[in-house]
Amino acid sequence: MDTRRSRGPIIAIDGPAGAGKSTLARRLAIALDLPYINTGLMYRAVTHRALTEGIDVEDEDGLAVAARSIGFAVQSDRPDQLAIDGSTSVDALMSSPVEERVSTVSRHPSVRMVLRDRQRQLGIGGSVMEGRDIGTVVFPDADVKVFLVAASGVRADRRAREDGRGLEAAQTVGVRDEIDSRTNPFVPAPDAFMIDATNLTADEVFDEALEVVQSRLERGISSQRDSG
Ligand code: C5P
Repeated sequence: MDTRRSRGPIIAIDGPAGAGKSTLARRLAIALDLPYINTGLMYRAVTHRALTEGIDVEDEDGLAVAARSIGFAVQSDRPDQLAIDGSTSVDALMSSPVEERVSTVSRHPSVRMVLRDRQRQLGIGGSVMEGRDIGTVVFPDADVKVFLVAASGVRADRRAREDGRGLEAAQTVGVRDEIDSRTNPFVPAPDAFMIDATNLTADEVFDEALEVVQSRLERGISSQRDSG
């Protein structure tokens, strides 16, 4: 598929679990008036479908069929919330059973291929897209790529606070990191801007990222002008 966009810019926000990607990506999307697409929710939706329909997490073909059949849509009246089969409720997608299996489901190349194509369709008109492979695989020609990292202790703490599940959440992040890093070795795209959030507040991360995005978009526009 041709990943050249037709309208707005594409901003890729990548990084490991718990680094604060969702908070940053949503805030950027709202500030830039772009749809926000959280691709982690798409992998979680496939995992949830597998659990409810009894599809084995090792059944690659069955999972790919599930990934193809789920409805994903950007809503024009709430562009910061991805509709999944018509619903924006994410509670079931954040549950422990999904959390424990999502990294296994997302290991399968066929599942990744289906979701990659669907992510391109969703984001091509301009978006802030969050994930682990957006700047390298999904939109390698994204206008701006930010790679957000944080020390693992900080990420586990953040997840534990968000989920209210303390140690359990921290352990799940550790296990997911381990499996996820085998699937995507967490190598940022060479043209990604790295932000280390370990010692920064969410506001500081946002301010830094917004500045980078705006200056890179501005530079992109002026280089188009120069070459045009
Ligand atoms: O972003 P979040 O932590 O909710 O993602 C859940 C899981 O989905 C990750 O642990 C990873 O296994 C998978 N994922 C992925 N590629 C993406 C986004 C998420 O493999 N682009």
